[in-house]
Amino acid sequence: MKARLVCQTCHKYYPASQPLWHCACGGVLSLDFHARFPIHKIQKRKPTLWRYREALPIENDKHIVSFDEGFTPLIKEEFSGKKVVLKQDYLFPSGSFKDRGATVLISKIQELGIKNVIEDSSGNAGAAIAAYCAKAGITCDIYVPDTTSPGKLMQIQQYGANLHAIPGSREDTATAALQKAQTTYYASHCWNPFFFHGTKTSVFEIIEQLGWNPPDTLIIPVGNGTLLYGTYIGLKELRQEKIIDCLPKIIGVQAENCAPLAVAWKKQRFTADQVVPKKTIAEGIAIQNPVRAKDIVSAVKETKGDIITVSENAIIEALHETHRKGYFIEPTSAVAVAGFKKYHLRNDERVVVPLTGHGLKAGAMLSTIK
Ligand SMILES: *Cc1c(COP(=O)(O)O)cnc(C)c1O
Ligand SMILES: [Zn+2]
Repeated sequence: MKARLVCQTCHKYYPASQPLWHCACGGVLSLDFHARFPIHKIQKRKPTLWRYREALPIENDKHIVSFDEGFTPLIKEEFSGKKVVLKQDYLFPSGSFKDRGATVLISKIQELGIKNVIEDSSGNAGAAIAAYCAKAGITCDIYVPDTTSPGKLMQIQQYGANLHAIPGSREDTATAALQKAQTTYYASHCWNPFFFHGTKTSVFEIIEQLGWNPPDTLIIPVGNGTLLYGTYIGLKELRQEKIIDCLPKIIGVQAENCAPLAVAWKKQRFTADQVVPKKTIAEGIAIQNPVRAKDIVSAVKETKGDIITVSENAIIEALHETHRKGYFIEPTSAVAVAGFKKYHLRNDERVVVPLTGHGLKAGAMLSTIK
């Protein structure tokens, strides 16, 4: 059966060959797709995320746009005597795990024959989309807040994308992009379900690298939920195919200064709370209005997880501690480490924490953090 798009609001189906990024009713689309995991074949393939080929919703191999990315190393670490396994997802061609989503989404766009796209982002998703568009020869316009780290802005421009640095909040950037999306295909990492079917590969790799055994707990930074909700999609697919029998707990971590999902979680509400965001060094997850709030909160609930917050001081402390162990990450990535440090660990609990973005992207900001 071919992949179909399905609206989360009115449940209408569309063939995945239609170039849609949302439903006619305005609802968010998800993908109805049967992933398969032929383990013996998978294990013989190259160590890239495309080894899970039967789980990736691209019809024809010739449309794949890839740098042979993924299969990033898992490594054991300890923070204050607490054992953890780190997934080094900052080691990607564009320097963040967003390349997982971009390789699948831009491959789909190639399959649809689309030649121009737009995207808005707080930086890393824009850089990832720009990199894969460069590889595919697709023109792209990227909207970002003008306060985004200069390293990320420069990276987007160097890939040849048209950069639009928008004054104001992240929401103002989204509004500017939505305007443009009336006429140009919106390669949005928050709206477009193909992006999530790329980010889901992180947990496929984690589980394969642990000998096809799931960890007990995953601690994931969350803004728009591309990694968190992608992980949930991936886990459900693995369970449906009986590769795992139960879902690990998903713990989402937000910066206290911008935590609409954590507030909604506390009230057990399924829409993101209106919060007045304060400035945070976790620029990559400073999302005031996540479009998939309901999916994210429901996913965490189904795994018996939690959504927690960490303070700016805790993020900075975790950032320095991670750097001193030799992992050069950007401040946003330190949110997950801070979440792990705060998390009350059971004795034998096996926890995996992804490191999501490279420190070299945030050089200017890092020099101001004491
Ligand atoms: C995008 C991003 C995240 C996760 O954010 P979501 O909005 O939930 O997808 C985490 N860390 C970094 C460095 C990121 O760029
Ligand atoms: Zn709909």
